[in-house]
Amino acid sequence: MFRIGSHVSMSGKEMMLGSAKEAVSYGANTFMLYTGAPQNTRRKEINELNIQPAWDYMKEHGIDTFLVHAPYIINLANSVNPDTFSLAVDFLALELERTAAMGSPILIVHPGAHVGAGVEQGIEKIAEGLNAVLTRETPCCVALETMAGKGSEIGRSFEELAAIYDRVHCSDKLCICFDTCHVHDAGYPIVEEFDGVIDQLDKLLGKQQIAVFHINDSKNERGAAKDRHANIGDGAIGLPALKAIVNHKDFLDIPKILETPWIPDPRNPSKKAAPYQAEIRMLTT
Ligand code: FE
Ligand code: FE
Ligand code: ZN
Repeated sequence: MFRIGSHVSMSGKEMMLGSAKEAVSYGANTFMLYTGAPQNTRRKEINELNIQPAWDYMKEHGIDTFLVHAPYIINLANSVNPDTFSLAVDFLALELERTAAMGSPILIVHPGAHVGAGVEQGIEKIAEGLNAVLTRETPCCVALETMAGKGSEIGRSFEELAAIYDRVHCSDKLCICFDTCHVHDAGYPIVEEFDGVIDQLDKLLGKQQIAVFHINDSKNERGAAKDRHANIGDGAIGLPALKAIVNHKDFLDIPKILETPWIPDPRNPSKKAAPYQAEIRMLTT
């Protein structure tokens, strides 16, 4: 099944049901949500997330899966501040519980930033954190996101991600979230040579490890290490390349999630509107 959707919010009384309705309003058949504000750790109890009504609605509307994204404050690579690291480990465990309770198979996590300690040190710390949380019984997977390489971010190369896999005992609980903006900003030629980039990933990680795509254009040139998402067709990647990725035969049933910026509402330019309905249409027709 071909699956495409976007980041959606989860708030108010309806919580997850509201997320599913928002996705359907964009013509999507999958979606991604944060379990609360991405910048903090305040979260509602699992029994307040309105999970069953959401699934009833999803089934009626042809949605069979969705994804959860962990908040940015999780930094498993921080070997400098022990409090940051232990908060990351504890919160990751709770996020995995929520992800499983909500019925999503995948929690997307940014590998982390080494904050000056160096890439190797950062990779060791990420693996330590993942090993503290993942067991054979963990009911969902952690998708390590490919990163743009801004600041001291780890995961800007497939080699760095492979080094994390090598150090994690339950590496069968890992998978990859391929973000087009990030991979482009990290320097890979996905516009000219997507298949070649996938071959590189395949040799280091196995392309079947890609469990989700983030489909974003980029405000910057290849290799800029910036991570600024642009609307589809408005950036340095461009519509033809993004369309080719979305419709690539090797990844047809892998969920594609848009995280493009909101745009001024054409009916009321002082307000912002989600671009997702139009962008999904551009990518799929
Ligand atoms: Fe992300
Ligand atoms: Fe992303
Ligand atoms: Zn990004």
